[in-house]
Order: sequence, then structure tokens, then C-alpha cells
Amino acid sequence: MHRNFKMVSRIVFGAGCFSQLDTVLADMRTGDRPFMVFLVDDVFSGKPLQKAVPVREGDFLQMVSTENEPKTKTVDILTDSVRAHAAQTGGAPAGVVGIGGGSVMDIAKAVSLMLTNPGSAADYQGWDLIKNPAVYHVAVPTLSGTGAEVSRTTVLTGPEKKLGINSDYTVFDQVVLDPELTRNVPEENKAQWFYTGMDCYIHCIESLSGHFMNAFSRAYGEKALSLCREVYLSTPEPDKLMMASVFGGMSIAYSQVGAAHALSYGLGFMLGIRHGVGNCIAFNALTDLYPEGVAEFRKMADRHDVSIPQNVVSGEDPEIIDRMIDVSLVMEPLWHHALGPDWKTVVTRDKLREYYLRM
Ligand code: NAD
Ligand code: ZN
Repeated sequence: MHRNFKMVSRIVFGAGCFSQLDTVLADMRTGDRPFMVFLVDDVFSGKPLQKAVPVREGDFLQMVSTENEPKTKTVDILTDSVRAHAAQTGGAPAGVVGIGGGSVMDIAKAVSLMLTNPGSAADYQGWDLIKNPAVYHVAVPTLSGTGAEVSRTTVLTGPEKKLGINSDYTVFDQVVLDPELTRNVPEENKAQWFYTGMDCYIHCIESLSGHFMNAFSRAYGEKALSLCREVYLSTPEPDKLMMASVFGGMSIAYSQVGAAHALSYGLGFMLGIRHGVGNCIAFNALTDLYPEGVAEFRKMADRHDVSIPQNVVSGEDPEIIDRMIDVSLVMEPLWHHALGPDWKTVVTRDKLREYYLRM
């Protein structure tokens, strides 16, 4: 059956459009839903962006640490805090706004879902387990590449697994794309700018070269790929990378990511390696599967003087590597996309061990 694809309802785009956020949110505030929840990456603590967040009286603002990637426990704690604020003020939340990179956007998605669904976020890691629509939720990306602003998942590490809450209700109602918010990233955190941007590049290569490719995904994927090339091989303009991230996300939404992501999940879960850099480490080892993509990726890394970490797995305990292989093998649709319906004949435990030992 063909997927009936849920998209973001509204998008505002353009330099400086963050200043419109208050107006955008105003319509959502009602008598019994008076307050907004702002979750802001704590990298902006004391910075002009924090001061520019349009907080009104009675709103709930929390600076969020992104030292680790989002955990179900963090989402549960934040959700409880918002509920306590609601109880104290006697009104329900009008919306949840996430201002940050993929981590904070995912936390905002998850909190908006958990405000209307009982239990822990860990209960909903999987596909279409969410029963009730989320509270209205908004993304304001400050880092471009993950495509989290348009995807139907929020990737969380729970007590048992690292897996998204995949649901149509996860998709943002509103996205505010202001390239100015990402303009300083290359100076402030060059490596992160590269790794997260390469998440998008790798989305494109994996989406475009897999079994589930189709004209919808190709249309978005090819444009995103050419934007990545402009940004990383020519002029690094923030608006181009912002649109590459959106289009890369749209491309994988209707096809799939591939082998680098499948292996990166093992790195993330067992070694705590973050998504962007984990994808780079994994992709760098996949010269046999994506030869042209890897060659171009290395050219981009050289051009920006960013080194891809090496020997991160080779010294690990064999048992840890075995667990990483387990985590990667669970990603069946990714392997199917990368290698076709007979992927199980190629993707053996020995093959995955060989890949991991190259990293
Ligand atoms: P991130 O959000 O984890 O942020 C990385 C670092 O960059 C943090 O230290 C953060 O404080 C900093 N940062 C953010 N904005 C900045 C700015 N403007 N200037 C300077 N520093 C800034 O990084 P990410 O790569 O965007 O997101 C990774 C997360 O996204 C992972 O948890 C991953 O699982 C998730 N992800 C989700 C999806 C999805 O579809 N939901 C897709 C891909 C990745
Ligand atoms: Zn990714």
C-alpha cells in the first residue's frame, strides 16, 4: 500500500522571520489554553536569541541541555514539569515550541505528544503507537541538517532501545525557518556544522541510491544534494543548508535512509556517539556501498579541515561490538532499502563486524 504522507501544516521562511513567532503563536492562545511552552537549547543561555524568545506572562520557558541526545526520561520529566505548571496556573498549554537543533526539536515533539498521552515516552517508541493527537507544536531550527523539522519521528533513547516515536501526530504543526539563526554555526562550532550538515548529505545519498527510491523522493533528494554541494564545496550560505535539510527530510520520508544510518544506530546506542558524527564515521567506512558519495564527502571534510574520528570501534570489547551488530540488524527497512529484498544474504553478522572494525 502507498503511504499517505502527513506533512507540516505551515512553514514561515526567511531571514529575520523569527521575529514573527509571537504573532504566529498568538492565535493558538485561548482562554482555557493560555500558556506557551518554550524549550530552548541551553547553548543560547544569556545569548540574544534567548532574550528574543516571545515569552508572555504565564508562559513556561525551559533551557534544555543537549549534552546527551534526548532520552525518554528527560521527556517524562519535562512533561511532568509542564503539567505541574498547568495545575498551578489553572490552564492547559496552548503549544510547545522547540528552539534548537535536532535534539531540542525532538524533545519538543515528544513533550507535545506526552502531554496528551498517558504513561512514559518509552511506551511509545515504535510505529503508530500514539493514540491521541499532540498539543500544537512548533519547530524553530537553529542547526540545519537532520530534517527533524519535517519528519514524523522523534528519536529517543529509552531504557531498552534507541528508537523513534513514529506517528502522524509527531509531525510539527508549524515550522519557523529563519536562516539567520544558523548563520554563526560555522564559526562557533565548525565540526558540528559539518557533522549535522553531512547528516543531510548522507540522507540524500542513501535515499537516492536505495531500493525504495521513487520520483517523489528523487525530486526532493536531488535538490537537497545539489544544495549540499553548493554549501560544502562552494559558498556556505545558511539559507541553502536550511532548505537542503528540509528537502533531505522530505526525500527520506517517502523512501528510507540506508546502511550508514543502520550502523550509526549501533554506535549511538552502545558508545553514546551522536547522530551526526556517528553517521560520518559509519559513512566513511562504506566505500564499497557508496563509493562516489564517500569520495565526495571526504573532499568536503578536507575542504573544511574537519577530521572524521577513526579507530572508535576497533579497540572495543567483542561483546560490545556484538551488541552494536544486534542494534544495527534491527534496522531491517534500512538494510532492505540499501541492498534490496535479499539483503539478509549480504548483511551477515561477520559483514557488520567487518564494517564496525573499519571505524
Ligand atoms: P543537536 O541538536 O544535538 O545539537 C548539537 C550541538 O549543537 C549542541 O551542542 C547544540 O547546543 C549546538 N547548537 C545548536 N544550535 C546551535 C547554534 N545555532 N549555534 C551553535 N551551536 C548550536 O544536533 P543535531 O545534529 O541537529 O541533532 C541531532 C539529534 O537529532 C539526535 O538526537 C538525532 O537522533 C536527532 N535526529 C532526529 C531526526 C528526526 O527525524 N527526528 C533526524 C535526524 C536526527
Ligand atoms: Zn540522519
